[in-house]
Amino acid sequence: MPLARRSLDKLEAHIRTCLESVGAQRMSLPCLTASSLWEKTGRLGDIGPELMKFEDRHGKKYLLAPTHEEALADLLADVGPLSYKQLPLLLYQISNKYRDEHRPKHGLLRSREFVMCDVYGAHSHVHDAAHVYQRVSTCYNQLFTRLGLNVHRVAAPSGDMGGSVSHEWQLPASAGEDTLSVCPQCQHSALEPSDTCAQCGGSTTVVNSIEVGHTFILGTKYSEPLDAHYTPSSGPTQPIVMSCYGIGITRLLAASLEALSSEKSLRWPKLIAPYTVCIIGPKEGSKEWQSHGWESICGLHDDIASATAHKGDIIIDDRHNMTIGKRLMMADRMGYPYIIVCGRSTQESPPQYEVYTSGDPSTTSVMMLTKEQLIQYINTHKHEEITNIKTTSAI
Ligand SMILES: [Zn+2]
Repeated sequence: MPLARRSLDKLEAHIRTCLESVGAQRMSLPCLTASSLWEKTGRLGDIGPELMKFEDRHGKKYLLAPTHEEALADLLADVGPLSYKQLPLLLYQISNKYRDEHRPKHGLLRSREFVMCDVYGAHSHVHDAAHVYQRVSTCYNQLFTRLGLNVHRVAAPSGDMGGSVSHEWQLPASAGEDTLSVCPQCQHSALEPSDTCAQCGGSTTVVNSIEVGHTFILGTKYSEPLDAHYTPSSGPTQPIVMSCYGIGITRLLAASLEALSSEKSLRWPKLIAPYTVCIIGPKEGSKEWQSHGWESICGLHDDIASATAHKGDIIIDDRHNMTIGKRLMMADRMGYPYIIVCGRSTQESPPQYEVYTSGDPSTTSVMMLTKEQLIQYINTHKHEEITNIKTTSAI
């Protein structure tokens, strides 16, 4: 619905900025994929039941892709062979993916149709792949830090994807179906439940968590059967070494709400809240409404919009037939980072506004500020980020 759509748009924009900072280029691959490509790599049989499969009117078999390693390798074969000088290549797309989940549940956490950002690397050697893998991993760490999410990168089995190196990106949350053992001493985390930290020998804490991303060095599992080759500086053509990096965007949105919210109130990573500022005017017909009605509310909106970075990111709760208290309660439940209330103190000279900032649900605090002060407050807090202490283990 509209608010979550806004939040998804913001999340996608942050992911795009992050990926383009490491040289990834956006592209689009079709959701509709010929099953024959998946037959060639052996995955049609390996993950068969999870695939949404069907036939066209001529009896040709297709599937709605849950991931695009085959489609990308087929594309590289089609335009190739690339020269080694054209590598490495980093391509990404943001699109709907499909998986015939056995048990879809928890809304966007596990659904049959979801939005994913998938990045594919094409490299001439495994050590080139490892270099790019490290850069993209660093970029993912920065993204999660900026969002204020304590995401752990943990070594993972490669499973059906194949390849040599793989990490899951896990966000601790009680609704999670995975378990993570986290070491409070050295921050090392692992997927296998264990009482003792493999790195420092300290005792670990076991928490539920949600997988929000998965990254792989794939090797030539897809390029070999699909003939995606490159021409080296000398000698015959070689299969391209591939890597891939996926972030489940809709799942990340749902997971961050799971991780940050309470039973009563939603809390978003500040950067992706549907609106950063919510303005609540007086109740229609009240004394405050006489002096601080619709015109003043719009004036306040316009002044904040022009003096901060939040133009287009401010919502006025214009249900002025409802009391301030009721709308404030609803705004707090929605979790807008700044809630500005035009209450009794707007009668003062100069008018004072109640500014509520939502952090941790238990610590919502209120300040009385003039218009100039509240604009200054929003501006000085715009770069405020929750910083997590995280470690990235070497490949
Ligand atoms: Zn440790």
